[in-house]
Parts: sequence; structure tokens; C-alpha cells
Amino acid sequence: MRIGILAVQGAFIEHEKQLVSIADHFNEQIECIEIRKKSDLENLDGIILPGGESTVQGKLLRDLEIFDTLQAMILQGVPTLATCAGLILLAQSLENDSTMHLATLPVTVQRNAYGRQLGSFSVSSNVGEIENFPLIFIRAPYITEVSADTKILVAVDQHIVGVEYKNQIGLAFHPEMTDDTRIHKYFLQKVKAYNSATV
Ligand code: GLN
Repeated sequence: MRIGILAVQGAFIEHEKQLVSIADHFNEQIECIEIRKKSDLENLDGIILPGGESTVQGKLLRDLEIFDTLQAMILQGVPTLATCAGLILLAQSLENDSTMHLATLPVTVQRNAYGRQLGSFSVSSNVGEIENFPLIFIRAPYITEVSADTKILVAVDQHIVGVEYKNQIGLAFHPEMTDDTRIHKYFLQKVKAYNSATV
């Protein structure tokens, strides 16, 4: 399977490392493609949108002419895992920002929701079926509203920080910065299921 990781800015290497460490135990080849131009989107089976700075990433998506094709692929059902700034790129609406980006995920997100001072923190929680996952937050957003058909995967202190909607998984935290690979494995299972359904 070919997984494209948006690599215009931010923490994309960490996702790549996570996939490489899973590859040994996954009985399918995993190829990582760093997305920096439109043609990198060709023949991808899955997409990862990493953390970083969403305003910069959103601008680069447009400047590099990746935006329209990427948006169409997500809407067509290509499995997508988005973390932190990636979640902000997917959100259909932002509470404290007039910019909207890909707008494929029917949720409202608040950027820097924990304030800029409370830089980083970590807690452990269940994420969907995955028990006791270490959640690392870095100047993180959280989700303030979800559509009725969006599944809430995890909430911390009554704030929603992980959701799944059809092919999209949006997380406010950083599973790629832990050595726990269960969320990436879950995503790869989704990619596999999508592949076998579309062949
Ligand atoms: N605060 C960043 C933003 O608004 C996201 C932080 C992150 O990705 N770690 O884009």
C-alpha cells in the first residue's frame, strides 16, 4: 500500500518512522510517499496530514496546487489520518479563525484551545477500542461540535480530541510522537479494507 504523508511543513518524519516500524509486522508492503507536489498524490491508498502550523500548511497546499486534488481524494473516500494541525486542515469550521481549509470533516475546531502558555501535556485514555493510549498534546486544538454521524473516539476533560467520520480520522494529539503504534495500525487496517473494497 502507498501512504502519502503531507510533507510541506511540520512533523511528517515522525509519521513515516511510525509506519516503517509497523511495516515489519504488517503482512503487506508499506511505501511512504512524501507529498510536496500534485503528482505525489497519484495512486495513493491512504493520506496522513501531520501536525505543524495549519495556517502555513493551508497556504502551501494552495500555493503548490495540491489543495483541489487532495480535497477531492478525501471526499472520494481515500482513508485519511490527520493529527493536530492536520485536524484543523480537515475541519469544516474553525471557531476562532475565519480561514477554512479542506473542510471535509463535519466538525468545528478551536485552534490553540488550551492557550499558548499551556504548551504541551500528556494524559492516557482509551481511543475508540484502543485502551490506555498515551495522548500527547502540543499547542493543541480541540473539537467543539460534531455532526450527528461523526463518531467521538476520545474526549479529555469533556473536550473532544479525537473523531472518526467515514474515511477520516481526526486527532488533536500526536500518536506519531509515541512508540505506541496502535492508532497507525488501526489506520492501516482502514486502508486495507478500503483497498479490498475498491479493487
Ligand atoms: N497550534 C497549531 C495550529 O494551529 C497546531 C499545533 C500542532 O500541530 N502541534 O496550527
